[in-house]
Amino acid sequence: HIAAVLAENVREHELCYRDNADQFGMLLKYRSREKLSARLKMIQEQIHKFRLSSNQDYHILCNFGVMIIEKNGMSDVNADFDTVMNGALLALESVKGNEMDSIAFYDSALHEKAARRTEIENRMWSALERREFVMYLQPKFSLKDGVLHSAEALVRWMPGDGKMLYPDEFIPVFEQNGFITRLDMYMLEEACRCLAGWRDKGYAAVPVAVNQSRIFFYDAKYLNKLEQIVRHYEIDPSLILLEVTETVAMNNLEQIKDVIARLHGMGFKISMDDFGSGYSSLNTLRELDVDEIKLDREFLSTQSDTTRGEAIIRNVIHLAKDLCAATVAEGIETKQQLEFLKSLSCDIGQGYYFSKPVPADIFLQTVSEIGSPQHDTAT
Ligand code: C2E
Ligand code: CA
Ligand code: CA
Repeated sequence: HIAAVLAENVREHELCYRDNADQFGMLLKYRSREKLSARLKMIQEQIHKFRLSSNQDYHILCNFGVMIIEKNGMSDVNADFDTVMNGALLALESVKGNEMDSIAFYDSALHEKAARRTEIENRMWSALERREFVMYLQPKFSLKDGVLHSAEALVRWMPGDGKMLYPDEFIPVFEQNGFITRLDMYMLEEACRCLAGWRDKGYAAVPVAVNQSRIFFYDAKYLNKLEQIVRHYEIDPSLILLEVTETVAMNNLEQIKDVIARLHGMGFKISMDDFGSGYSSLNTLRELDVDEIKLDREFLSTQSDTTRGEAIIRNVIHLAKDLCAATVAEGIETKQQLEFLKSLSCDIGQGYYFSKPVPADIFLQTVSEIGSPQHDTAT
């Protein structure tokens, strides 16, 4: 069916072929993006119309990745077959997969992104060995009395050759290729090492939160590894808060409920990160027994200035209290935001207003220099 549709749609001096499996290629004449998109949409619809039989409602959805070969030599691409196919495939990979975005055009940013990705993947293992991943800590304060509550561990990548990388640049790559489980374990271990260091120096314990990506829920050895690490450093698991994102939690509620119960049994605390950024927040809340709910940063910054937004935040905080979970507001940048959250009896605050994430080894010193934020606001 697809072959027939494509063959029907190619005009004189145009070509189509099947590459492999469900992948096809077309070489079409180009006038403008709009004209080409309209043409591809038509082809898409014809492919979509296919029915296996009259009583089976099976439709074929197809996506398009497009690479434009410019005739006047303005383009910086070599129009050899492999280059063009690779470009089209890169564009295809960037397709979101919903009906609105089923056609994507290649541009050089895609190429740079792919190159960057390859570089990250080539370097990640040696980076782990060379301890290039560094734990930063950002303090969380109790909003009632301004006392330090805990810290969140945030990873930074310090390559030997200089420029520090932020998580947004490499975490998405690690999440896709699975390396994230290694990194998350490493960060948990760094948190434990830090806690042990503080204990050995006689400092009061400050709980540390570590971020945990989705994959661990499917890794049977995960719980054992966690236990081994806290045992090795002789850390009370209740000093470790595992931050899990809501999207993680939504996929497989039953399994996750079970993992959370076991983690609780071992003494760990669980935090629901980025709450409000997903779609079935209330449902997840109902199902999952978490110790802490972190309101998504975006949620706070874009909604707190409207009455509707305020009503939502206020009620989420109430709801969390009813569920015996602590509420954390992250991304507090202004005194105004802080006062707003205090007025809603939010329990804990985190954000640049108090402190940016700092290297773990200067964390306690930094926090003691900030002092109690509550006093700052009073003066
Ligand atoms: P997140 O867990 O939501 O972490 C909070 C992010 O907000 C951090 O960015 C932090 O630096 C930033 N932030 C804190 N206060 C403010 C503020 O007042 N204003 C603004 N604009 N931003 C603020 P960061 O460190 O770049 O981390 C980004 C994300 O990367 C984290 O989001 C988390 O999802 C992920 N991540 C970081 N470290 C790890 C890790 O070790 N493992 C995993 N799986 N993910 C990590
Ligand atoms: Ca987090
Ligand atoms: Ca967050």
